[in-house]
Amino acid sequence: MVDWRLFEPLFNWARKKSLWIVSFCTGCGGIEMPPLMTSRYDIERFGIIPDPSPRQYDLFLITGYVTPKTLKRIIITYEMAPDPKWVLAHGSCPLNGGVYWDSYNAIKHLDKYIPVDVFIAGCMPRPEAVLDGIHKLMEMIESGEADGWKRYRENYEWYRKNQDELLGKGWREKEARKWIPWLVDKKKEVKE
Ligand code: SF4
Repeated sequence: MVDWRLFEPLFNWARKKSLWIVSFCTGCGGIEMPPLMTSRYDIERFGIIPDPSPRQYDLFLITGYVTPKTLKRIIITYEMAPDPKWVLAHGSCPLNGGVYWDSYNAIKHLDKYIPVDVFIAGCMPRPEAVLDGIHKLMEMIESGEADGWKRYRENYEWYRKNQDELLGKGWREKEARKWIPWLVDKKKEVKE
């Protein structure tokens, strides 16, 4: 029987060389994503590719402030991806609320709800800073230090408690049910 853990350093080396980013932009930092991925800063040279599918990414960039409404989508998108997966949050807002520190509608500490592997402070951080954060994350992946996905599993009760305190118990089911009348209407429209 092969012990696959022996190959973990090789897997980690391969993982850091082909990170796929899910296209999910939050806050002002979303505007920094296209320059990062186009000819000037060009993250493709590091094997990083943007991808719209929540099933196929392994790098989740949170690019700015997060409201409770967006947080629900972030949690669902995070949970839909298979392990291993990593979160890089840039901008001061996900770190501590940033300029929205006293807003009723901005999350103050994103890492209470999903595990963050690397934070990049700044409002907003320059693309060089984001590249620096991505390189830091790549090093952490290779050394096995980037373990947010394991922390989420091991401390799921804690994350779930924080999510439910903020969003209310049963928020997942309520969100899903909200779409039912819309879907019924759409079905009627198609028939008519
Ligand atoms: S950190 Fe600054 S630039 Fe980024 S989302 Fe917050 S207010 Fe906008």
